[in-house]
Amino acid sequence: MAKDNNKKFDGLFEDSKILKPSAAFAKQANIGDRKIYEKAFKDPERFWAEQAKNLVWFKPWKKVLEWKEPFAEWFVGGKLNVSFNCLDRFIGTPTQNKAAIIWEGEPGDSQTLTYRQLYTEVCKCANVLKKLGVKKGDRVILYMPMIPELPIAMLACARIGAVHSVVFGGFSSEALRDRINDAEAKVVMTASGGFRRGSIIQLKKNVDAALEEAPSVKSVVVVNRAMDPTHVPLQAGRDFWWHRLMSEVNAKCEAEVMDSEDMLFTLYTSGTTGKPKGIVHTSAGYLLGVNLTTRWIFDLKESDIYWCSADIGWVTGHSYIVYGPLSNGATIVMYEGSPDFPEKDRFWRIIEKVGVTIFYTAPTAIRTFMKWGEQFPNQCDLTSLRLLGTVGEPINPEAWMWYYKNIGREKCPVVDTWWQTETGMILISPLPAITSLKPGSATHPFPGIKAKIVDESGKEVASGSSGYLVLTTPWPSMLRGIYGDMKRYKNQYWSKFPGFYFTGDGAKKDKDGYFWLLGRIDDVMNVSGHRISTMEVESALVDHPLVAESAVVGKNHEIKGQAISAFVTLKESVKKGNGHVELIEELKAHVTKKIGSLARPDDIFFTAELPKTRSGKIMRRLLRDIAEGRALGDTTTLADATVVAKLKDQYEEGE
Ligand code: ATP
Ligand code: MG
Repeated sequence: MAKDNNKKFDGLFEDSKILKPSAAFAKQANIGDRKIYEKAFKDPERFWAEQAKNLVWFKPWKKVLEWKEPFAEWFVGGKLNVSFNCLDRFIGTPTQNKAAIIWEGEPGDSQTLTYRQLYTEVCKCANVLKKLGVKKGDRVILYMPMIPELPIAMLACARIGAVHSVVFGGFSSEALRDRINDAEAKVVMTASGGFRRGSIIQLKKNVDAALEEAPSVKSVVVVNRAMDPTHVPLQAGRDFWWHRLMSEVNAKCEAEVMDSEDMLFTLYTSGTTGKPKGIVHTSAGYLLGVNLTTRWIFDLKESDIYWCSADIGWVTGHSYIVYGPLSNGATIVMYEGSPDFPEKDRFWRIIEKVGVTIFYTAPTAIRTFMKWGEQFPNQCDLTSLRLLGTVGEPINPEAWMWYYKNIGREKCPVVDTWWQTETGMILISPLPAITSLKPGSATHPFPGIKAKIVDESGKEVASGSSGYLVLTTPWPSMLRGIYGDMKRYKNQYWSKFPGFYFTGDGAKKDKDGYFWLLGRIDDVMNVSGHRISTMEVESALVDHPLVAESAVVGKNHEIKGQAISAFVTLKESVKKGNGHVELIEELKAHVTKKIGSLARPDDIFFTAELPKTRSGKIMRRLLRDIAEGRALGDTTTLADATVVAKLKDQYEEGE
């Protein structure tokens, strides 16, 4: 990774277009002065302190940062409440009567909650938690579909100082059990069921199974959703209907005075690389980070109708559905179900129906939309959109352009935002009124963030070379640890390069100083001594007009060290089966043309689907297992384990 030997692979990225911000966008933007970078760089603590004044504090802080590597405390001595910052600050202002949440259920039911209504629901839910004996510092597991009760429960926890831990509703009962036990949670809030692609996921049933081996849980609160309630057994003394409890409490609940460093939530990472980690975030620094990045990166205003299509079960939903947008008084859209239900135009129909102005999604979704074809967005009115965002994986330049053209109609800036569960907020991204965009590049670190690309010895690499992405100074929304495992926190993030936070991602900076994310360090191949990122080869494949998505892995090779194996999904309009020799040759030639002969895949295998985590990321380590003929490794965080099992069979037959 570190060596300066892959310069010849820059071709794909360097010839990419540059798109300048439009004057019209710049004129209305929240942040348009590029001097902010320099100012923040010179004195990050002062910068963060100035920005923190936009939050509502009960008591000001005494010291901005206390840094005893690797432990940070931000805004020492300050007191505030995150729920207060998302709700109470708007009560009594005109904002109270505007929509906070526009919710759309999968079967077509919908609901709108104004800020005042949301405030009332949150207060009631906070009183329910209190009634169940939940105290400041207690952990509450939220295992719910994408329904308004989920952000209500999060804000209710924040209101009374309980620590929420959201478990994505797609997880099994075992995964849920492990997370409950790791957190030693007292209460679980769930729903009887949730809709997904027309069928019902029985969440309460999973909770019952999990609780057989989770003794810390004393009460379960169940939202009545998607099922006949008489078919949902409640255990007396333990399980309660949400609506019953909510009707028995009053609607006033003062927000608890919280210390800046009091824990706000724990959240498990998506488990792309291995065992998920319970990441700990605290109150003030986290809120500051998400509040500011939402305003500057998404250019969010109170007048916006903002839709982030992630599930709240992932950090993107925490930071950029709930805490960032609501603390800015914007209207958020929440959708319960799948993008292809009932038709493959559901997302575009929602944008048209509610007039979404800002849309934030993931490369995996964009590649799926590409696979389905542009006829679906084309039949909808998307003119309300003014900005687009992406997060979760490196975005292939071709997918970026597709998004820009077919969804943004070439008038919306696209912000590619790099960050992690651990970083709490976006750390590398364009500022849309300032940054000229290069499709596929996350561009520059956010003001106040110092990032470097270093070699194995920790030395910064020359421009054009790739290396390890590190962060060289603490930032307010950084993780404060791994829940219950501070040793792992130190080892994982702070031991590879002394003094730097190690992200685990590879990156490179081009001659203009733009950052290009190359994926995880493990996803970099070594072919005949050349370091090639799987991402670059995948992007070259996706650049071919017939290809929708691809995953590339390096497999052991006697002579080359590693040889390149590519798994390719074709667009739906293409009717080509496996073993289509001409197309395989054409794709290999395409990669050679785009990058060079060293990146030419040794073999290409067509597949209808790629194995992905439940958050939609490609799991290359399992494809490596297949390509090298091994038994499959851990598959517990896969979205659909049958995809990889089928693929393994097909691959072995095809050989
Ligand atoms: P685990 O750490 O358990 O393996 P994970 O890293 O997939 O899971 P997340 O914290 O949800 O869990 O994802 C963060 C990672 O996603 C980043 O480290 C990076 O690899 C990838 N990522 C996120 N956004 C981008 C982006 N815009 N460009 C490139 N990669 C991105
Ligand atoms: Mg990670």
